[in-house]
Order: sequence, then structure tokens, then C-alpha cells
Amino acid sequence: KDALAGLDTGCSFASLPRGFYTQVNPRPLREPRLLHANPDAAALIGLDAEALGTPGFLALCAGGARLGDIAPLATAYSGHQFGVWAGQLGDGRAHLLGEVLTAEGAWEIQLKGSGRTPYSRMGDGWAVLRSSVREYLASEAMAGLGIPTTRALALVGSADPVVRETVETAAVVTRLAPSFVRFGHFEHWGHSHHEQKALLDYVIAHWYPECRETADGETDLPATACRLLTEVTRRTARLMAQWQLVGFCHGVMNTDNMSILGLTLDYGPYGFMDAFQANHVCNHSDTAGRYAWNAQPAVARWNLYRLASSLLVLGCEAPALEACLAPFEAEFLSAYRAGLARKLGLEAWGPDDAALEDDWWNLLHAQRADFTLAFRRLAGVDRDAGPWLALFADPAPAQAWLDRYLVRRAGQGGDAEARRVAMNRVNPLYVLRNHLAQHAIEAAQRGDASEIDRLWALLRDPYTERPGFERHALPPADDAPAVAVSCSS
Ligand code: AMP
Ligand code: MG
Ligand code: MG
Repeated sequence: KDALAGLDTGCSFASLPRGFYTQVNPRPLREPRLLHANPDAAALIGLDAEALGTPGFLALCAGGARLGDIAPLATAYSGHQFGVWAGQLGDGRAHLLGEVLTAEGAWEIQLKGSGRTPYSRMGDGWAVLRSSVREYLASEAMAGLGIPTTRALALVGSADPVVRETVETAAVVTRLAPSFVRFGHFEHWGHSHHEQKALLDYVIAHWYPECRETADGETDLPATACRLLTEVTRRTARLMAQWQLVGFCHGVMNTDNMSILGLTLDYGPYGFMDAFQANHVCNHSDTAGRYAWNAQPAVARWNLYRLASSLLVLGCEAPALEACLAPFEAEFLSAYRAGLARKLGLEAWGPDDAALEDDWWNLLHAQRADFTLAFRRLAGVDRDAGPWLALFADPAPAQAWLDRYLVRRAGQGGDAEARRVAMNRVNPLYVLRNHLAQHAIEAAQRGDASEIDRLWALLRDPYTERPGFERHALPPADDAPAVAVSCSS
């Protein structure tokens, strides 16, 4: 309690007009149990490891205490779900507790799974342990990979029953982000000039000060909105490049799950690919494959278009808004190609590399080779190509690609050992494969949270090989039952 009392807190979101949110208290979990607390995330808000063991911390993260004297609130947003306008959504099971102010900036603290709000619609306000473990670990796995994401501070479980396909138990994830504002917040106010301007001013003042005016001091409202849209376009494009390069599929790229800060947000039926399939769909509820891996950049672009449309109300001209989206492709390609070059151990992307790239993905796709290991083991092919070739059922086409690749790589010279080290710093050995998360979930459901801790510790530094974790680097066994993830959470 004392450690928390020392935090400098506030709640800037509450300064927005009334319609943006409703003050509502979380419903505390009964007999809460702290399943994991994250010292890395805690450090961001100035909490030390000791604070994480206090009753005050558990009460906060179980929905049973306030942050300082701040009234918790749920925010209103709208969105397009699977390409269709869904109207008002909002925080149906999330509570913003406020923000912690640090020298580096403010961090909002939000509970997810903390009970009903005025935006719950038909939902019960709960989150099950299964999906909460997945969100908790994925947030930190993405952070470990260096990919922009909301963070996870604590995971609290309870025996409180929650009805899904079966009866499960409730859990709450405490999330941190500079802001949880989504594209959907802007879509919500797409017909209200006053509120949209308030939201724009708020977002720019806090997170995009560089968009406030041009160098010569011009602050025209439509032009300001365009500057923000351009910057969000760039960040989102770079985020997509990072997702693609680790084989991450979000699963539910609805506009209400898109962060205005370009963070990975709302981990549901996501997946890190095992066997590479370009059109892999991780969410079993996504029967049309709208959010397949190879569709993600285009979907992000579509979502940005929805964000752009919501800015028309500020007096922006449609062609001007469209022009703000134009940098998406170049920004995506430059981040993607630079990242891919690093992953392949190339000093820079060259004019002939597009063909090598095409054939790389075609090779992996044709043989359903493991995404993560195909990159990771590439670092060592000049010493011994065996472990890499073993990823392919038919080694002949793999060997043919490898021969071309080694010629390309030899052409740039350089120190082989330095290159190997550099490749191992950008190609993770460990990712949060579904079957690994599933093991941690099943143990947690039996009351054993130790595998959550092991995975957390592993994934915060996924590049460093660790003795004792050999199996964590591998795809699931061929005869292992498939883990199906869906929107049920
Ligand atoms: P999601 O698919 O998790 O991104 O959620 C879409 C919308 O449904 C958001 O408004 C959520 O707050 C809401 N929602 C999802 N699950 C629940 C639930 N169990 N109770 C209340 N609202 C929910
Ligand atoms: Mg209100
Ligand atoms: Mg969501």
C-alpha cells in the first residue's frame, strides 16, 4: 500500500468531454490470487519488486482498490468489426484506473476482465484465465522482441466462475500503455466536430506534439489532423513490418483494436506461426480469412482509411486525407526490407533481393517450414547447413535456395562471426507458440503458475539461447493435439 501511495498519479483522459467515458468501479475478483507480477513493467512506473508483493498491489490489480483517489472509468469507442460498421463498442470489460506520472512520461493503468460497464452490451464483463494468460505473456513476448505493444503488469486469478463454451474461471490482466486510445475512439466521434476536435487536441498534446504546428507556426485544424494521420500511418506501417517479420498474426484486426500510438493492442486469438503458411489464419472464428498473415498490411491500410474518414468532420478534404495514407506503402516496405535484410544477414537490401525473398517465402510455404527456426538456423549455415536443411521435408529445393543465398551473402564480405552474432540478435530462438501458452494455461488452471513465470523469463529475452529450454525452441510435435483459438475469451 505504501509503495503505491508514493506514486504520482493523474487521469488525463477524464479531462475529455463527458461523453468520452463513464465513471464506473471494477467488480473485484473474489479471493484474488496473484499469478504473476512483472518487474519489468513495474519498473516503468517506478515500482520495485518489493511493492509487487504487497496487499495493496494485489488489491489494485484485482479491482478492489483505487489508484490514489482517482475514480476508475470505462471509455466509449466504436469500430468496424470484420469489415462491418459495428457502431458503439467501448470498454465493455476494462477499467482505466488512471495514470502514473514518471519523469519519462505517463503510463495509464487499465484492468481487463474487471466487470461490467455501460459499454458491456451482452457481455458479462469477465475474462477467463485462459485468454488472460495469453494476453499477459504475449504482451511481454512482443516487448522482448522489441515490437511496440501495450504492457502487462500483473495477472490475477480467482475461482469466480465464468461461462463460455464450458465453465472456466475469471482473471484480470493489468495493462500499461501511454494511452489506450484506438482508431475506434476517433470513429466514435466521426460526426461530432466538438468532440473530435477535443480528441485530436488531446492526442496531439500528449503523444504527437510534433503534429501541433508546422515549422512556421501554422495550426490550421484540418492541416493538423492531416499531420496526425500521416504520423499514425507511418507508425502503423512500421508496426505491420515488425509483425510480419516475426510471423505474428493478430487475429482480430478490427478498427477498435488498432492503437493510435501504433502499439500492438488487444491480444485475443493471435498466433505466432509455427509452420509457415502465407495465408495462415490464426483465429478459428475468422472463417473468411480476413485477417490472414499475408493480409495484415493491407488490412491496416484499410483501417487507416476508416480513421481518415472520421476526420472529415474536422473540415478535412477527402483528397488531403487520402494523401496522408499514401506514405503507408513506402514506410512499410522500407521497414520490412531493412528488417528482412538484417534477418538474412545482409548489410542492405539490394536490387536483386526481391527475387531471393519471393523464393524464400515460396520455399517455406511449399514445405510448411517452421517460421522462427527457418530464420534462426540460417545464421549457422556456413558452418553446418544440416540443422537448417532438416527443417525441410524435401531438402533439394532448400539446398538450391541456400546456394543462391550463400553466393549473395559471400558477395558482401565481412566478418562471419560478427554476422552470426548480429543475425542471432534479430532472429528470436523462442516465440510464444500456441502450444507453449497452452501448457502454461493448463498448469495455471490446475493452480500451478510456475510455467507462466518460466515463459515470461524466457520471452523477455528471446534471442539468447538458454540451457534447459531446448523444447521451448521447437514447434509442437507432429502428433500433438492442435490448439484452436477463437474469439471466445
Ligand atoms: P474484442 O473482440 O475483445 O476486441 O472486444 C470487442 C468489444 O466487445 C469491446 O467493446 C469489448 O469491451 C467487448 N467485450 C468483449 N468481451 C466482453 C465481455 N466478456 N464482457 C463485456 N464486453 C466484452
Ligand atoms: Mg460520461
Ligand atoms: Mg478489443
